[in-house]
Amino acid sequence: MHCTKCRSKAALKLPRHNAAFCPCCFNEFVQDQVVKAVKTQRMFGHEHRILVAVSGGKDSLALWDILLKLGYKADALYVDLGITGYSDRSHDKVRRFADTVATPLGATLHTHTVEKEEGAGIRELAMAAHRPACSTCGTIKRYHFNRAAVEHDYDVMATGHNLDDEAARLLGNVLHWQEEYLDKQSPSLPASVDGFAKKVKPLYRLTERELAAYCVLNKIDYIVDECPMAQGARTLLYKDVLNRLETESPGTKQSFYWKFLDKQNKTTTPQTDMTTKDRALLHPCTACSQPTTGEICSYCKLMARAKREVPH
Ligand code: SF4
Ligand SMILES: [Zn+2]
Ligand SMILES: [Zn+2]
Repeated sequence: MHCTKCRSKAALKLPRHNAAFCPCCFNEFVQDQVVKAVKTQRMFGHEHRILVAVSGGKDSLALWDILLKLGYKADALYVDLGITGYSDRSHDKVRRFADTVATPLGATLHTHTVEKEEGAGIRELAMAAHRPACSTCGTIKRYHFNRAAVEHDYDVMATGHNLDDEAARLLGNVLHWQEEYLDKQSPSLPASVDGFAKKVKPLYRLTERELAAYCVLNKIDYIVDECPMAQGARTLLYKDVLNRLETESPGTKQSFYWKFLDKQNKTTTPQTDMTTKDRALLHPCTACSQPTTGEICSYCKLMARAKREVPH
């Protein structure tokens, strides 16, 4: 098997592009896909300060690596969720990447430890607040990313969502005709509030398999196991269905999601993660000052419920 670009020995076959690449051309391919994503979705420029949400997994570490190699000003925030075993291992991977790759390139790693500030890990907080673990986690992470963006003055927040994630999410939204979520499913969402960061997903043109290969080829050590709370999540079922379609018909995943984006780009209404009506109702949370539509924000409500049961 020869590299489609330079004819040397290929290391990886990409059926959806009907191509094969040697390690060097594969790295170029990955960078090109990110450059295209950033350009077509007008995500950011070299003058902007980017905060990458890193988890220790392949996608977020690959994203941080690619953005730094492309010369962007990219720092990262790791939220330690306090999940026994899993959080220690993922934190280790993030620290190692920061020490060996990111810090020498001038980037900063910020860390937030949930057990320190919130008083307990995600699992315990969710139980105390009688909320599902993933929604508790989402509220806490959203709060800390918004806070970090405001405190450290970041323009853009970048997450490692890949093509598989976005296609699975689209499938879920379509199956249940969740039109409100469909409107918000964009790889580039402007800041909903002044001072908050814009939210972008520069890896939406790359698959999980391609990002795993990128990490292996570039010796990026990442945590392979899924978060233990993710087991049974419906997204995994949608990913499995899409993978079966992809095996039978390479390119299905990208055509499903990219054609959705094409149609979305033709609409005149810009996407945001909040409706215009909700934005008009925003005012500072009486407890923490982050913008909310109610009297207190969902993070403060969650913490108030949890703290009644978790000793601080
Ligand atoms: S699976 Fe759930 S708990 Fe685990 S990191 Fe994702 S959102 Fe958080
Ligand atoms: Zn090549
Ligand atoms: Zn609040």
